[in-house]
Amino acid sequence: MRGKLVIISAPSGAGKSTIIRHLLENDINLEFSISATTRAPRGREKNGREYYFLTIEDFKRRIKDGAFIEWEEVYKDQFYGTLKSEIDRIWSHGNHVLFDVDVKGGINLKNIFKHEAISIFIMPPSVRELEKRLLLRGTDDPGKIRMRLAKAEEEMKLADEFDNIVLNDNLEEAEEEIYELMSGFIRRET
Ligand code: ADP
Ligand code: 5GP
Repeated sequence: MRGKLVIISAPSGAGKSTIIRHLLENDINLEFSISATTRAPRGREKNGREYYFLTIEDFKRRIKDGAFIEWEEVYKDQFYGTLKSEIDRIWSHGNHVLFDVDVKGGINLKNIFKHEAISIFIMPPSVRELEKRLLLRGTDDPGKIRMRLAKAEEEMKLADEFDNIVLNDNLEEAEEEIYELMSGFIRRET
């Protein structure tokens, strides 16, 4: 079967991983698309669970082989990409695909899958609040946080390109809103 696709994008620190974790706990046949990346594992991340962690050489070889449906150098020397094989893997289980990708990747995937996909942008209340969340998360050094905040300002300008924008101020409300959008989309005939 060919399932549907849910694309979630947000500036780093907006709460995307937290919200996605919650969505995956609901039983609506949704499976996470595990991206490939060249960045190092963070915290308790495990290869093949949050990401496929690759060397830059390996990542570039896969670009050449045409293995990615989309990829981006999200930060300098940090590549991220969606493997075509992930989508086939998830559909072969009879599930719908959930993507956690950067803003450009989200726009690209929506252009590829069109009405088969819903794209959702998670908006933080402000850049100040983003900074606070990244500091509290405690997984990135100050240089990395600066890099992520600079990118966030650019990404927020592209929010209008998404089907829906959800403000993540109150976490539970944001989770509820995204769940409703997503489950409504999945139930609907395309
Ligand atoms: P992302 O995946 O978008 O980079 P995370 O899900 O890791 O972001 O969230 C960044 C930090 O902000 C985490 O420590 C998370 O617990 C916290 N957080 C998420 N949503 C909220 C919210 N609505 N209010 C306050 N803190 C939040
Ligand atoms: P992080 O390092 O915080 O896990 O992710 C950094 C950024 O890369 C996030 O915006 C995340 O959504 C994005 N990202 C993760 N996987 C992919 C992917 O496969 N493609 C693209 N374009 N971006 C990705």
